[in-house]
Amino acid sequence: MGTQHKAEQGTEQMKLVTPKGARVDSLRYPDIADLMSRLRFAPGNGRIWLDDQRMVLLHAQSLGTLRRELIDSLGIDAARGLLTRMGYNSGARDAELVGKVRPGNDVSEMFAVGPQLHMLEGLTEVEPVRLEIDVENGHYYGEFLWKGCAEDEEHVRIYGIGAEPVCWTQIGYASGYTSVFMGRPILYREVECRALGQAYCRIIGKPIEEWGEEAANDLRFLKAQSFTQGLAASGDRTDPVSGHGAYDPREAPAAPTAFGDVNMVGASPGFNAVCHMIRRVATTRATVLFLGESGVGKEVFARTLHRISKRSEGAFVAVNCAAIPESLVESELFGVEKGGFTDATQSRPGRFERAHGGTLFLDEIGILTMTAQGKLLRALQEGEIERVGDTQTRRVDVRVVAATNLDLRDEVRAGRFREDLYFRLNVFPIRVPSLRERKEDLPVLLNHFLRKYRERHDRNITGFTSRAIDAILSYNWPGNIRELENIVERGVILAGDGAPIDVGHLFISGETFDLSVFGVDEHGSLLPSDKLNALAGAGAGSGDDAERITRKVTSLLMGTETDGAPLSLDDIESALLKSAVRQASGNLSAAARSLGITRAQLVYRLKSRGLRV
Ligand code: ZN
Repeated sequence: MGTQHKAEQGTEQMKLVTPKGARVDSLRYPDIADLMSRLRFAPGNGRIWLDDQRMVLLHAQSLGTLRRELIDSLGIDAARGLLTRMGYNSGARDAELVGKVRPGNDVSEMFAVGPQLHMLEGLTEVEPVRLEIDVENGHYYGEFLWKGCAEDEEHVRIYGIGAEPVCWTQIGYASGYTSVFMGRPILYREVECRALGQAYCRIIGKPIEEWGEEAANDLRFLKAQSFTQGLAASGDRTDPVSGHGAYDPREAPAAPTAFGDVNMVGASPGFNAVCHMIRRVATTRATVLFLGESGVGKEVFARTLHRISKRSEGAFVAVNCAAIPESLVESELFGVEKGGFTDATQSRPGRFERAHGGTLFLDEIGILTMTAQGKLLRALQEGEIERVGDTQTRRVDVRVVAATNLDLRDEVRAGRFREDLYFRLNVFPIRVPSLRERKEDLPVLLNHFLRKYRERHDRNITGFTSRAIDAILSYNWPGNIRELENIVERGVILAGDGAPIDVGHLFISGETFDLSVFGVDEHGSLLPSDKLNALAGAGAGSGDDAERITRKVTSLLMGTETDGAPLSLDDIESALLKSAVRQASGNLSAAARSLGITRAQLVYRLKSRGLRV
C-alpha cells in the first residue's frame, strides 16, 4: 500500500528500534499529504486552520524581536522559560492530530506526525537519527538533527555565536509533542546547536527520570515553578516555599509540580496562571474566590494558598456547604449555644471558630441559605459571628477562601444569592481552568496518578497503551481532574500486573462516553463515532479510505470475495476525483488530464458531488 508520490522529505530514513536495541524496521517519513490536507487558508475571513486549531503566519524576524525584548526585560532565564513552554504548548496541541490523521498506523508513522508538522509549520527541517518507541512500556529514545532551524537563525542574527544552545521553543515543542504522544513526560535536550557554531542542531529525548543530573537545568524551564518564579524573582532559583533548589531527578517526582507540593501538578499556561495568582494573593489578607467546574482541583489550590500564606501555622478548615443538610449549615459554620431557642444539649463551636487564626475554605458557597449568607457577610465585614441560639457576638480572625462552580452573578439575578456578599467575595476571583482547557497537562497528570496508585495498590503497571492515550486525549473530561484520577485508579486496579493500562480498563461502564462516543475501526484503533460513521458512509478519499477503495476495486475486478465494504460506484468515483485533485496540488487542468477528462467535465463532477472546486 501507500504509493509514495513525489519526494517530499522521503529520502530520510527513520530507524525504528525495539527497546533491546534491535532494528525491526526502517522507513521513510510517510506521505505528508494527510497533514497538508488539514491545513486550510481562509483569507476571506482572516483565518488559517490546522485541523481545528487556529494558526497565524508570523514573521520569523518579529519573533526574533520578541525574543530580544523578552531577554532584555526579563533576563535570559525567564525568557527561555516562556519560550520553552510556548513551544511545549504547540507540540502538545499538534500531538492531538495524531489520532485524527493516522489512527492505527504503524507507531513510527504515527509519531512522524510531530516531526512532519514541525517542518510543515516552517520551523526546521527534521532528520531522524534514531527512534525507539515502546508506548506500552513507556520506553522512548529519540535523536534528531535539525537543519536550518528558524530559532537559532534569529538568535544568532541578534546575539551572534554563543556558549549555550538556544532553540528553546523548538525543544519545548519536541518535549510537548512527545510527552503527549507517549502519555508520560519526555524531555529533550539540545546537545549540539548552530548557535554554538555547529552545522546542525542535534536533539535527544528521553523520559525525564532517565536523564541524570545533566538535565536538571533544562528541566526547570518546563516547570511551573521556575516560570512563575522567574517573573516574580528573576535570578533567585531557590523555591522560597520548600527551600529546595533546582530539580534533582534522584529525589523529586517526575511530574512538574508547583510550590513544592506533589499535588500541584501541571505545566500548562492555564495552570501557571492560577499558580501566579495564588502566589500574588497568598501573603495578603484578601478573601479569595475560586471559580471553575467541579473536579478541577479548587480545594488543592486553596490548601496551597493557605500553606504559603502567613497563616500557615493556623488551621485549614474545609467545609463543603453542599454536603451539609440545609438545616444544619448555620450551626456547622457558626456553632451552637445550649438552651435558648435551640434544642442543642451542648454548646459547641462552629467551623469559623475552629479556623481562628487560620483559613476557612467554603466549597460550593453558591448553595448557602439566605440566613447563612447574612451571617457570613457579617463575619467577613465585621470579623464577628454569633452562635445559633446565642446573643453574644464572638470575634474571629479567619481568612475566608470560597469556591463555587455556579455563576454567582446568575444566582444574584435569580435572587438566590446576596449581591453584597457576592461583591465581598469577589475581591480576588481566580478561575481554575477545566481539564479540557489544559490538555497539555495530561501527560504529567497521568504519570502523577499512575505513580500514586501503583504505589497505593502495590501494582506493577507499566504505563498506558497508545489506544488508551488516544482515548484519554479525545475524551472531554466533564468531571475534570477528579474524573481522571478516578479513572486512572480504576485502570491500575483492572490492568494485569506487568502490563499497561488499556482503554477497556479506563472506560468500563460506558457511562463516561456520553459526551464523546468511540468505536473501534478496522485497525483496532479508537475513533470518535462520528468519524467512524463518516468512514462507513461515502468514501472521503483520504489515506484510510484509499485503502478500502483499493481493496473494493481489486475484489470487484479480480472477482474475489468482496469485503462487504458499503462502497458505491459513486463513492469510488468521488474518491478518485479527490485524489486526482490532491495529487495535482489543486491544479484542476492537471487533475483532469490524469483522469482523461476535460477540465470542465472535472469541475462539473466535483460540483455535482458537493466537493469544493
Ligand atoms: Zn539549535
